[in-house]
Amino acid sequence: MEECDANCESCATKGTCTDPRNEMDAMARAVSARMGRVKHKIMVASGKGGVGKSTVAVNLARSLQARGYRVGVMDADITGPSTAKLLGVEGERLSAGPGGIEPVDSKGLKVISMAFALSDSGSAIVWRGPMKMAAIRQFLSDVSWGDLDYLIIDLPPGTSDEPLSVVNLLADLNGVVIVTTPQEVALLDSRKAVNMAKSMKVPILGIVENMSGLVCPHCGEVIEIFKIGGGKRAAQELGVPFLGAIPIDPEVAPLGDDGVAFVERRTAAAESFEKVVERILEEVEEVEETRKATLR
Ligand code: ADP
Repeated sequence: MEECDANCESCATKGTCTDPRNEMDAMARAVSARMGRVKHKIMVASGKGGVGKSTVAVNLARSLQARGYRVGVMDADITGPSTAKLLGVEGERLSAGPGGIEPVDSKGLKVISMAFALSDSGSAIVWRGPMKMAAIRQFLSDVSWGDLDYLIIDLPPGTSDEPLSVVNLLADLNGVVIVTTPQEVALLDSRKAVNMAKSMKVPILGIVENMSGLVCPHCGEVIEIFKIGGGKRAAQELGVPFLGAIPIDPEVAPLGDDGVAFVERRTAAAESFEKVVERILEEVEEVEETRKATLR
C-alpha cells in the first residue's frame, strides 16, 4: 500500500482507497456533519439500573421541548433500550429516508433506539463492545436528526463501553447528568459514575437525587422511604454541582408505562423536576462559557 498522508481530499486514490485510516476519517466526517447541526449534547447516566435514569432523560427532553426547543433523544442503551417505551413509540420501526435513517417522531421529539430494530420488545440483544460502538456511531452519523437545539443521550447504567464511544465521537459534549437514589448502595455506584466521567474528561453537569422521599397524599408529610439528602452529600464530597431532588411520586410509573412523561401532567414530581431542568440549563451555559474562554 502507498504511503498515506491522510489528506483524503487531495489523494489520487480517493474513492478506491482501503486504508483503515481513510474509513475512520470518513466516519468522523459523517458524525461531525450531522452533529454540527445539533447545538447542545447532554448525556444522562447512572451508576446502577432502576434509579430513574431513563425517566429523567425523557422528562428532560419533554421539558426542553415544552420550552420551545427542538429536541432529539438517542437511546444509547443498545442491549436494554427503554426510552421508546417511556415515550410511547415502542412499536415503531426504523425507516430509510432520502437523508439517512429517519428518527421516530414522538409528539415532536426525534427518537432513535435499538427498540425500533427489534422484532418484539421481549427480544434480547447480546452484543459485544465493538458492535455496540458501531450502533452508537451509526446513530450519530446516519440518522437524519436535522437541526436540533438539544440531543439527550440516555446511557446504559454502570460504567460500560457506551459512554466511551459517545465521548470519543462527540468532542463538544456539554456534559453528563448523573442520576442517583439516596440509598448508600446507589450512592456508591453514582460515585463510580462521577469518577468515570472525570477520567474521560467529560464535564459533569451535576447529580440529581431521584426517589427522594414520598410526599404523603393524605397529610403532606415527607416519608423518607430511602432516606433523603444522600445525593447532595455525594455531590458536595465529589465537588460536582447538586441539581436537585425529585420525590417518589406514585403517578410516575403508570404514566411512564403509558408512554407519558410526568412533566406533561401536574404531578408532584413535575414541580421539582422543572427546577432541576433550570439548574441543568445554567450548568450547560457555564460549561459553554468556560469552553469559549479557553478557546480565546
Ligand atoms: P433506570 O433508567 O435508572 O433503569 P427507569 O427510569 O426505567 O430507571 O425507572 C425505573 C422505574 O422507577 C420506572 O418504573 C419508573 O417509572 C419509576 N420511577 C422513576 N422515577 C420515579 C419517581 N420519582 N417516583 C416514582 N417512580 C419513579
